[in-house]
Amino acid sequence: MSRKYKITAACAALILLFSAFFFFYQKQQEKQTEPVSVTGFKLNTMIKITVYDKINTELLEHAMALCDTYESLFSRTLSTSEIYKLNHGTLPEKNGFFEVSPETAELVRKGLYYAELSEGAFDLSLAPVSSLWDFTSEEKVIPEPDALKNALPLVDYKNITVEGNTIHFEKEGMGLDLGAIAKGYIADKIKEFLVSKGVKSGIINLGGNVLCIGSQPDGTPFKIGIQKPFSDRGETSITINVSDKSVVSSGIYERYFKKDGILYHHILNPKTGMPYKNGLVSVTILSDQSVDGDALSTSCFALGAKKGMELVESLENTEAVFITENGEFLYSSGFPVSDK
Ligand code: AMP
Ligand code: MG
Repeated sequence: MSRKYKITAACAALILLFSAFFFFYQKQQEKQTEPVSVTGFKLNTMIKITVYDKINTELLEHAMALCDTYESLFSRTLSTSEIYKLNHGTLPEKNGFFEVSPETAELVRKGLYYAELSEGAFDLSLAPVSSLWDFTSEEKVIPEPDALKNALPLVDYKNITVEGNTIHFEKEGMGLDLGAIAKGYIADKIKEFLVSKGVKSGIINLGGNVLCIGSQPDGTPFKIGIQKPFSDRGETSITINVSDKSVVSSGIYERYFKKDGILYHHILNPKTGMPYKNGLVSVTILSDQSVDGDALSTSCFALGAKKGMELVESLENTEAVFITENGEFLYSSGFPVSDK
């Protein structure tokens, strides 16, 4: 073999080696940003957590298990939960102050803040009234007028006191319903956990309560679709570009039933015990923390388009879109719509 031929062969071998190495390296890089997801039915809804970083799938399982941990604190209907026991007076108590976990005390404080901010349109003491309704079974239960009349005087957030990790009710028979705020709180806690483990890119979706971790792996914002009212889950009306934000909707299409041609939905007026009827079908809130977005989506729905929008405009880093029965979209001044 000539010297010239030997050099050419060596060069070709080197090029081949480099190409193989480059191909392998690229595949590894691709693998790192391939999404990893877990899904499940928890908190009475479909949960999906997706992470775009290379992580141990055990972390995702742990994130999923956090839903169970918090459900065992905040559920109104689970007979083993802390809130159920609080509502039924079976928690340890001293002078009428029931002992709760720091997490429950923290969430109740948040709920009281939003009850005050919405002047009671959002009221976490709704349990005596909301427990008379059932929007999940096929039963189509409308509460008896007498039952509602007895329950309504028990609903007033001003009669709740939180001191340290204890809760006191002014009236016997009062109880908490954290359904309008708990999923947001839980989403924030899951994000906190994943970020503490080094996750930089992901989406936490708790039945439409969406919380982004960072942006897409290539640095561009996530595209989040806003649910089209009364359509299949996944069908969207508009899409927004967001990074590191929470996108939470409250709508009459989420839990409802129809009886004698009337639609009864799950966002209730604490003054009447009946579903709000104010021309809105949904409110979506864009915020940094999901607990705020969750509380505000329910609060703004309850306040109606005019007062709800005024509230949103008065808050920092908070945007909203209200969808009306006539199909109108009402946007707050800084709402980032990509295809209006
Ligand atoms: P969301 O889907 O976040 O708007 O929450 C709705 C849930 O919050 C309902 O299923 C009830 O458990 C509870 N809820 C209903 N109406 C109200 C209200 N006016 N204030 C506070 N919580 C409410
Ligand atoms: Mg809510």
